[in-house]
Amino acid sequence: MDSVPEPDSSNSENMTSITTINTNISALASSPSTPSRYENQKRRDWNTFGQYLKNHRPPLALSRCSGAHVLEFLRYLDQFGKTKVHTQICPFFGHPNPPAPCPCPLRQAWGSLDALIGRLRAAFEEHGGKPEANPFGARAVRLFLREVRDLQAKARGISYEKKKRKRPQQPPPFPVPTGASSNTTLSSSLHCSSINR
Ligand SMILES: [Zn+2]
Repeated sequence: MDSVPEPDSSNSENMTSITTINTNISALASSPSTPSRYENQKRRDWNTFGQYLKNHRPPLALSRCSGAHVLEFLRYLDQFGKTKVHTQICPFFGHPNPPAPCPCPLRQAWGSLDALIGRLRAAFEEHGGKPEANPFGARAVRLFLREVRDLQAKARGISYEKKKRKRPQQPPPFPVPTGASSNTTLSSSLHCSSINR
């Protein structure tokens, strides 16, 4: 009778690697020189993508990964999205703050995907990948992200336009609403006048 399980199935291999990854992350987090949140997030994203490649059927090696596979990965992530993206037939299409629930799907927000791709693109090259072979920098991925941005901007009534960096002048800060403070002033002046009497 053999009590030691052989790690011959792909499932147990995955389990083992997940445990190792978690251990590494907690070890890093408790070390005095804690890496930045960006670095931590980048490492987690890279591990997630690694898991995705491992679980891919048929199995997919990183070296054979193309922009098309990255798009597949992004679509796979959509099922975990939390951003409501209204379809064109939804009455709330184009409403930033719909007054009622609707059955439209939840997706990954464009901003999350854009940041994710940026981190994975950097991680790929940090792990020895060549910039010209970087699947996260593929034209198809750029076009896809632009499409998602435009679609979500329309569906959610939100503009994602980048702030123009060429202009050194910043718009003046929005004045703080004075409703509450004027009320305070009014009541305190009333208070003062009642004391005076
Ligand atoms: Zn909707």
